[in-house]
Amino acid sequence: MVPFAKTGGLADITASLPVEWEKQGQETVVVMPKYAHIDVYAYGFKPTFMVVYVPISTWTEFAHVWKGHLPNSNIPVYLLENNDYFNRRGIYGDPNEYPDNDRRFIFLSRAVFEVAKMIDFKPDVIHAHDFHTAFTMAFLKSQYRNDPRFSKTAGVYTIHNLAYQGWFNPQRAMDFAGFGMKEFYPGCWFEHKSSVNAMKTGIMFADKITTVSPTYAKEIRNPYFSEGLQDVLGAKGGDLVGILNGIYYNEWDPEKDNYLHSKYNRDYLMGKHINKINFLKETGLNDRDNLDLPLIGMVSRLTEQKGIDLLIDKIEYFLGNNLFRLAILGSGESRYEDYFRYLAWKYPKRVYVNIGYNNTLSHRIIAGSDFMVLPSRFEPCGLTQMYALKYGTIPIVRQTGGLADTIEEYNSKKQTGNGFTFYNYNADDFAYAVNRALSLYSKGKHWDKIRLNAMSCDFSSSGSALEYLKVFKWAMDKVRLK
Ligand code: ADP
Repeated sequence: MVPFAKTGGLADITASLPVEWEKQGQETVVVMPKYAHIDVYAYGFKPTFMVVYVPISTWTEFAHVWKGHLPNSNIPVYLLENNDYFNRRGIYGDPNEYPDNDRRFIFLSRAVFEVAKMIDFKPDVIHAHDFHTAFTMAFLKSQYRNDPRFSKTAGVYTIHNLAYQGWFNPQRAMDFAGFGMKEFYPGCWFEHKSSVNAMKTGIMFADKITTVSPTYAKEIRNPYFSEGLQDVLGAKGGDLVGILNGIYYNEWDPEKDNYLHSKYNRDYLMGKHINKINFLKETGLNDRDNLDLPLIGMVSRLTEQKGIDLLIDKIEYFLGNNLFRLAILGSGESRYEDYFRYLAWKYPKRVYVNIGYNNTLSHRIIAGSDFMVLPSRFEPCGLTQMYALKYGTIPIVRQTGGLADTIEEYNSKKQTGNGFTFYNYNADDFAYAVNRALSLYSKGKHWDKIRLNAMSCDFSSSGSALEYLKVFKWAMDKVRLK
């Protein structure tokens, strides 16, 4: 959850939704691990000196509880301190998942109920995100089902990315979760291909399931996108809805952005140009020739999902023909990191690469670039393209998931659309979309119009928060009618 701990879009969304719900008069309580890198003092967290006792297998474990608030809000955030589980460098494991993620996250999923009891909170809804907290849905319907505090609580489970499912060894996971192997048999709600599958568990036990864009909600019913879970999603299809992630414009607005050299808006695009020039100077890309060359940016996890292979396939053609400059910020698979380091070495005046995670730089790349590329093979929602729109940076995207829901090809006759898209996962189609984008760059009224169209888009989190409230109500009705 931003600003405490982030690996991707999940962090932005979990931080923006409670703020909107608070405006709607709803009360949200957040529980998350006290990861080692969270600067608790900077964010004003304090130890409560309370301890929650969490049943694991046949014994009990514990966590010290810290309390703070989401910045600029009254939303309480409880951090669970357990050094065995959370006092380590990464969040999920870096670069590979930690082998005890089953135990760490089953602990977290169960501790949530104990925190609610400790603070005397009776939730209408428990909202769990991704496989790590999927077991809350199972606990809600079993161990805590007859507890009067939770007997009318609805479970809503949000899938942010179906590709990460949490495959656990049944002997371990069923034991830690307190179900035992007698509950594990082929076709049961925990089982998929002879393993415990946390994602399936969350989907099956939840009252309602959401995912992060309407198109992705449809796509995952199809084997190409379902990562093997099409039958599970088919079985629960009537309870599954797609809600497009929203953007927290307080954090992502060029008019208010303190990370930028010059703030700007659609009436003052000179400010955007100043950001570009400063970025080129800071990164050494400002050789004298052809300062007007377009700058294409990419801020992304460097994984196969993000369509890096399409970029790699065509990039030397574009750079060799001196068609644009490229700025990349990201980290992930070493084969991609190594390739981009090589590219920056080969084209020092054309390519800037920063391997790592850097929030300030992400704002500066998005503001300073003319285009952002997101050629994803699949993309549950994607946030970067929505940030880009607000910053007048034109997205070039593959038409999948949330990218398809937010980006529309520019039509120069009607002067509609906010970006460039391609459909097939194919490097030639990608290159064609890039060429169309480049041909429009700086072309008088069309360039002005597409940037205006982009900056006029509104994907604010308030709309998406209201959609969630509808689903919560729907889930509560289902539980109460039972
Ligand atoms: P995913 O969750 O699959 O990574 P999203 O587009 O939903 O993709 O969210 C990614 C978020 O992480 C965006 O806010 C993006 O700006 C940010 N991000 C990704 N990589 C980096 C990085 N290397 N440095 C800073 N921010 C990053």
